Formats: sequence, C-alpha cells, structure tokens
Amino acid sequence: MKIAVIGCTHAGTFAVKTILSEHPDAQVTVYEKNDNISFLSCGIALYLGQQVKDPQGLFYSNPEELKQLGADVRMNHDVINVDPTNKTLTVTDLSQNKQFTDTYDKLVATTGSWPIIPPIDGIDNPNVYLCKNWNHAQELFQTAPAKKRITVVGAGYIGAELAEAYSLTGHDVTLIDGAERVMSKYFDRKFTDTVEHDYQAHGVTLALNQQVTKISGKDTVTITTTKGHYETDLVIMCVGFKPNTTLFKGKLDMLENGALITNEYMQTSDPNIYAAGDSVAVHYNPTHKLAYIPLATNAVRQGILVGKNIENPTVKYMGTQSSSGLKLYNRTIVSTGLTMAAAKQQGINAQAVTMTDNYRPEFMPTTEPVLMSLVYNPENRQILGGALMSSHDVSQSANVLSVCIQNQNTIDDLAMVDMLFQPQFDRPFNYLNLLGQAAQKQLAATKEPPVQA
Ligand SMILES: Cc1cc2nc3c(=O)[nH]c(=O)nc-3n(C[C@H](O)[C@H](O)[C@H](O)COP(=O)(O)OP(=O)(O)OC[C@H]3O[C@@H](n4cnc5c(N)ncnc54)[C@H](O)[C@@H]3O)c2cc1C
Repeated sequence: MKIAVIGCTHAGTFAVKTILSEHPDAQVTVYEKNDNISFLSCGIALYLGQQVKDPQGLFYSNPEELKQLGADVRMNHDVINVDPTNKTLTVTDLSQNKQFTDTYDKLVATTGSWPIIPPIDGIDNPNVYLCKNWNHAQELFQTAPAKKRITVVGAGYIGAELAEAYSLTGHDVTLIDGAERVMSKYFDRKFTDTVEHDYQAHGVTLALNQQVTKISGKDTVTITTTKGHYETDLVIMCVGFKPNTTLFKGKLDMLENGALITNEYMQTSDPNIYAAGDSVAVHYNPTHKLAYIPLATNAVRQGILVGKNIENPTVKYMGTQSSSGLKLYNRTIVSTGLTMAAAKQQGINAQAVTMTDNYRPEFMPTTEPVLMSLVYNPENRQILGGALMSSHDVSQSANVLSVCIQNQNTIDDLAMVDMLFQPQFDRPFNYLNLLGQAAQKQLAATKEPPVQA
C-alpha cells in the first residue's frame, strides 16, 4: 500500500510512526515543505522567558529518525495540488525548484494551520511577526532581545504567554485584544480579573475591547486601534489560526473556516484520504458538535488514529474536551470544556458554581488557595466544563474534570467519587469533591420552593 503524508509536525509525525509500526509493509512518503519536523511551538514563550535554555530540545523527532523507521522523507517539498479522482499529487521540490507528480493509495492530510492575518492597513510592516513554527521562533529569538517595546495583538493562550515572557525579560509590553477580557474564550471573569491584575502588577499595558485598525512607521511603529495609539518596536500577531486546507477546497467536506470534516476513524469525505490535527474539525464532547480547536493534544491522538485505521477503520476517536492550561506569573491556570460565557453564547442550559478553598489543611506549614469553577447542566446534572487557578500545581485536576465530561459524569459523581486523602496533598474531601458538593448545594438552593409569607 502506497501512503503519502502531507505535512509533518505533530499529527504527521505521529501518523507516520504509527503507520510504520503497525503496517510494516506500507510504503510511506512524507512531503514536508519546511526543513524540520516535530517542533513544539509551546516552547517558544518558555525559551523567550529564559526557562528553556536550549531550543533544540523543543524537537522530539527528526527526518533521519523517520527514514530509519522506513519512510521516504522529502523535506522542503511543497504539495501544490491533490487530485482525489486519479489519486495523484503535484509536488514542488523547493530546493531544486522542480515539479513532479506522485501517486497514492491512501493520503494523509496533516497540513495543520496557519496564523490568521487580519486585513489591517499596514499588516505587511516588517516589524510585524508571527508565532507559529520554528522559522518564526528563530526570528523572534534573534530580533526581540534588541527591541525594548513589544506589542502582542491577541490575548488568547499564545499572546498571553508571550506577554508574560517579555514582561519578565525587561521589555515594555502592550497586550491588545478586541474582547473586553484576556483569555475570554477559556476562562470566566473571576479568573481573568486575577490574570489582568497580575499583568498590570508586572507593568504590562492592557489595551482591551479595541481592534487594531492600522500599523504604520519604520523604526518606531504606531499601532492605531479603535480606542487609541500605541508606539512600539515590534508587533506579534496572535489572533488565532485557520486550517491549512486550500489544497482540498471543493474536493473534501469542510466547515466554513476550512477545517476538514472526518468520521470517527479520521477518514474525510473521501475514504482514501485521512486527516488529523489542526487541519480538521474535532468532535467537541461538551456540546456533541463539531468545532475547530487547534491543539497539539488533538493532533497527536488523531495522528495515532490515522496510523491505526489507515488499512481498516478499527479504533474510534473519543472526541475532545479541549483541555488546556498555562502558567502565568507562577499561577497554574487550567480549564476543560465549556466556560459559562461559552455555554450562554451557544444557548446551552448551564449553571456555574465558583468557589475558593485551600488545597490542604491550614494546620500544615503552608497551603495555597485554589479558585475553581464548575459549569454543569442543571437538568441532567452533567458536568460541562471547569477551571482552576492556584499558585499550587492544580493542573492535573483539569484532567480529572476532563475525564468526568468525557464519561458524562454528574455533579453528584464528582461530589462523592473516591479521591485520596493525606494532609500533605488535600483534605478528607479533595477540593474537586468540594466543588461538586458546592454545585449540589447551589442547585438545591435554586430549586427550593419560595418561602411563604
Ligand atoms: C506558540 C504556540 C504555542 C502552543 N502551545 C500549545 C500547548 O501548550 N498545548 C497544545 O496542546 N497546543 C499548543 N499549540 C498548538 C499546537 O502547536 C498545534 O495544535 C499543533 O502544532 C498542530 O499540529 P499539526 O501537525 O496538526 O499542524 P502544524 O503544526 O500546523 O503542522 C502542519 C505541517 O504541515 C506542513 N504543510 C502544510 N501544507 C503543506 C503542503 N502543502 N506541503 C507540504 N507540507 C505542508 C507545514 O509546513 C507544517 O509542518 C501551540 C501553538 C503555538 C503556535
């Protein structure tokens, strides 16, 4: 069986490794337009913030490893056309500037995503940078140290991490977003209020609730927004990602933004074309709908499933809760599933409970408060989302809530499920049990009949 793989970062690397280990007779050709594979973009902010010392550690594989496993790896090769009817590809070898065609029995579309570049007047200013791949990372590593003022446009996860990293390395940072809160897609207000306070305490200028309309200037760049002007030396655009799927336009089923629609075996509308990672729509378990959520967590799982299912569809994708997390100014901030704001926006019947409790007893030498929230359906009591924030490492608790959503557990399950107790770690009821109990109390109170006068 002849398999062609287009794109080899995370989804592609995992697909290739799985294909070669589970189908040793397959003849695999990898086409990647860059000169590297498997770069972990999540390390960019960590390197800029000087927590990671060697950026080479941000690669977990390389073309030679895939060659040794048996793949024909063509780096610097751009696939410029796919003909699903005749099962052919047109490829440009970028180093030789030559074009050729190739055939396939099965095709793997792991072409990923690209940063959204909004149509702003002056967006092509040479001081405007992107932050996605190893090339972008190198440009930022080389340029940013000599620049004093840095403006990040987009206060999602990536912009939030970059703003923090630069504020800790002596830069004057401005963070601009069209929404009225930072990371508004991931966290409700109580969480983002604390994050915004932390930014301000570290000298970051927050320019929220305003859109960038113009970028001008040469050495000093002026950013004009719907609310004002900001002078800066370097701009990083982080306003989101779009799927890299123009190759398949009109040929495969897609969402409106171009995300390829697959079945649970990662087959697209053409059963000979599989897809995974940032190029596809995910099944979002909290809503049971398709959504576009570009995360490495999805890419690696789906890449493995492509490898397992490429000959015979056998192992199903479980869907995702879009669990994610970050650490800003020493606070762990994690979430899974729906926020209350997202539930409202999508017309979902939801209720949220928010509470703070110390993660372990006060008689211990130290303890730390944990801010937590739980979003649930008040009718069937199922958990739809949750978030936690603390200077204690609460990251794995988001994973527990993720499993609860995956398994359609209720607030009652969370309230009483067995969790270990030892004063080093928690109380007789773990703080997640207490969160479930708070949701039960809240729901009981809202359902109590009104007191008769
Ligand atoms: C700064 C940053 C931080 C992040 N942090 C996290 C995090 O902490 N946790 C998390 O889960 N996710 C994180 N992500 C998201 C994560 O990086 C992506 O979800 C992941 O890279 C998706 O992998 P992929 O292989 O599907 O696609 P991509 O990484 O987009 O790779 C696609 C590959 O396909 C190649 N390609 C595309 N078209 C062609 C073509 N026509 N011919 C040949 N090759 C082609 C591209 O060159 C590229 O190498 C972060 C992303 C960024 C940018």
